[in-house]
Parts: sequence; structure tokens; C-alpha cells
Amino acid sequence: TKINLTEVKDFKHVCASRTKNTSKADYGRVGVIGGGKGTVGAALIAARSALYMGAGRVYVELVEEKMDLDPSVPELMFRDKLDLSEMDAVVIGCGLGFSEKAKARFIECLQSDAALVIDADALTMVAGDEELLSLVTHRRAHTVITPHNAEAARILGYPLEEITADRLNRALDLSVLTGAVTVLKGAGTIVCQRSSISWINPTGTPALATAGSGDTLSGMIAAMFAQRYELMDCVLSAVYLHGLAAEGCDSGILASDIAPTAAEFLQALRDSYRE
Ligand code: AMP
Ligand code: MG
Repeated sequence: TKINLTEVKDFKHVCASRTKNTSKADYGRVGVIGGGKGTVGAALIAARSALYMGAGRVYVELVEEKMDLDPSVPELMFRDKLDLSEMDAVVIGCGLGFSEKAKARFIECLQSDAALVIDADALTMVAGDEELLSLVTHRRAHTVITPHNAEAARILGYPLEEITADRLNRALDLSVLTGAVTVLKGAGTIVCQRSSISWINPTGTPALATAGSGDTLSGMIAAMFAQRYELMDCVLSAVYLHGLAAEGCDSGILASDIAPTAAEFLQALRDSYRE
């Protein structure tokens, strides 16, 4: 396969300004499903990030916890159970936990026609579960998996060293195994599909190695899907902008601050494209 270093021109459609006469309906609905016991924050971080990246509406479903409002982001809407057929994109896995209810909901997501970002606990559930893996493989809607090295190792059933020794080929293995777009996170995040071009993301710093950072990325990718950009524009732009938000920092970033900063960088790109 051909290897590219991601450039802004690889997601130029995302850098076009919005058409003037539009409404939130044009920018889609994102659903975030999480909320295992004690890990509500992960879902909230993903959901907020989706708003910052331009999703028209963002909904949150918490499987084990109860919340009706996020006072610091009242724009988020909470539902006991999302109607998946109404969602343009769904994020599943961030702080989801491993309960029976969580797994049942994951299966329903896999069977839905929403674009799906599979992260964190949902990825761990897929590891070693033939039934879940086959549901992932048979999806027709856009499907993205966003493992870090350890999650990748679990899914492939390899020791961690086999991932870190050859991240490009292991990312490709994951796409072959799942049929999904793989985002293998870490310094130099790799984005690939089965048998086509692979991308290495040049942005990002170790400041991103902080709790909630991956949840932010998942929300950002889903927001791009909801806005109906092409598959690769969605994934490459989210990964690139997520990394750009940490540029110049070694530490001291809160995950919640990544998406607002990324949104500023996106606006700067849009301004420069207009000129
Ligand atoms: P997670 O491990 O799920 O929280 O995701 C961490 C996020 O931060 C991913 O998007 C990684 O690519 C990014 N990240 C973590 N460590 C680094 C690093 N040293 N350099 C660049 N990006 C990183
Ligand atoms: Mg994570």
C-alpha cells in the first residue's frame, strides 16, 4: 500500500465555508452512547467535542447512569434510549463499561445504519468475541475503529510489542480483520482502510496523552460524519485537527479543551481557503 503523510488538502472539503442558507438539520445528529458506572465523563467529553466540531444536534444516552442535563454544556440532550434510526452518526464505547446492557446496546448499534465510531470499551468487547466481530464485518454504513496500541493488541490477539514494532502493518491487519476504517492512535496516528492508501498523521504531541483525549477524538469524527463529509475527509480532518490543538504543548492540556482549540484551527483553515 501507498503511505501518505496527511496534509490539509486531503480533507479540503471540510475546509470549505458553510453555505449561508442552512439550518442545524443540515449538520446532522450525533448520538453518544456511554455512561457505565462511574464513567459518565467520557461520554460527555465525546459529546461536547461533537458540538464544537459542528454537529447540528448532539444526544447522549447513558446505559448505567442517569443525567438530564449537563449544566456546563446545556446544549447536550439526554435520552434514556436513542432512536438509532434518527442518528447520522453514533459513538459507542467511551466509558461504556462491560455490562450486559452495554453489550446489548452495542449489538443494536452494529445492526443499525448509522455511521459508527467504535472506541474504548466497545473495542475491548470485540476482542475475542466472534459474534461481535462478525457484526462489525457485516456493517454497510461507515464504521471506524479507534484503538490505541493496547486495544489493537487485544483485538488482534498479539502481544503489545508486535503492535508497536510495526504499527502500519498492524493497522492494516485491523482493517482486514474488521472491514472498518482503522485509526491506530498514538504518536503518528495511522489511518487506513482495507487495501488502499494508508495515512500517517503528522500533528499531535505527548500533551494528548491525557484522560479523555481519545474520547474527544471519537466525538470529533462523529461530528464530521453527521455533517456528511466523505468518509476519509471525516477521519483525516478529525485526527489532524485533534493533533493540531496540542501543537506547542508538552503537557497541561485538558481533554475538554482540545475540541474548542481544534475548532479555532479549522476556522483559520477555512479563512485561508476563502482568500
Ligand atoms: P486514548 O488513549 O484513547 O485516550 O487516546 C489518546 C489520544 O491522544 C489519541 O488520539 C492519540 O493519538 C493521542 N496521543 C496520545 N499520546 C500521544 C503522543 N505521544 N503523541 C501524539 N498523540 C498522542
Ligand atoms: Mg481511549
